[in-house]
Amino acid sequence: LVSVQNLHKSFGDLDVLKGIDLSIEKGSVVAVIGPSGSGKTTMLRCLNALEMPNKGTIQFEQDLRISFDKMPSKKEILQLRRKSGMVFQSYNLFPHKTAIQNVMEGPIVVQKKEKAVVQKLAENLLKKVGLEEKMHLYPHQLSGGQQQRVGIARALAIEPELMLFDEPTSALDPEIVGEVLTVIRDLANEGWTMAIVTHELKFAEEVADHIVFIDGGYIVEQGPPAEILKNPKEPRTKQFLNRLL
Ligand code: ATP
Repeated sequence: LVSVQNLHKSFGDLDVLKGIDLSIEKGSVVAVIGPSGSGKTTMLRCLNALEMPNKGTIQFEQDLRISFDKMPSKKEILQLRRKSGMVFQSYNLFPHKTAIQNVMEGPIVVQKKEKAVVQKLAENLLKKVGLEEKMHLYPHQLSGGQQQRVGIARALAIEPELMLFDEPTSALDPEIVGEVLTVIRDLANEGWTMAIVTHELKFAEEVADHIVFIDGGYIVEQGPPAEILKNPKEPRTKQFLNRLL
């Protein structure tokens, strides 16, 4: 579905991504792991141009190929953004909108869809994430896990080809991590294509088809969970995993 080539990103003098090559197969779940500060979040945000890469290309099948070697056009960036739905670590819901209004925002404002149709869609999505009773509540009236489930419904609402999750459970209390992981696991079983930055190695092992280990701005090693988590070849991967055990 997605092919990333030689992606670079720096912030001022700090080179964060130093040439990332990555393929994401349609229907697969890719988990991105690595030490703090290694560039995982930056890579994910580059995939939908929330961060603008300095160099490299991102291609979605035959539909869209954007080179960042020069500044892409606004139209290209918009096309890229519409391909993916992002779920943020800190939910990023609109505080003055209810759960359902948050979910309806994208399809109405960005996709200019009809309100009645979007309302139905949003109700169904909130049902799917187990929040039909809570759809008229505001974010501050919801628990962290519930807010994150609204965040997931909102990302799904634009019917993206790719779902991006940026450490979706790391702001949550341990006892409610499970409810969010369950929703993500269900999406994986439904065949959604997803890239998930996560510190939850057990979860990654269970849901991911492909694990990408990033360190120092490079993909050091990637492959199926059984290989990367159980039998890593690279010393840096071994060291990272040992520290977590
Ligand atoms: P963590 O697991 O701690 O979230 P990460 O692997 O996701 O880390 P990134 O958030 O991608 O790491 O950050 C990589 C590096 O880029 C860090 O040194 C960070 O300080 C820097 N960085 C990220 N965003 C910006 C920004 N907007 N401006 C300047 N530096 C940034």
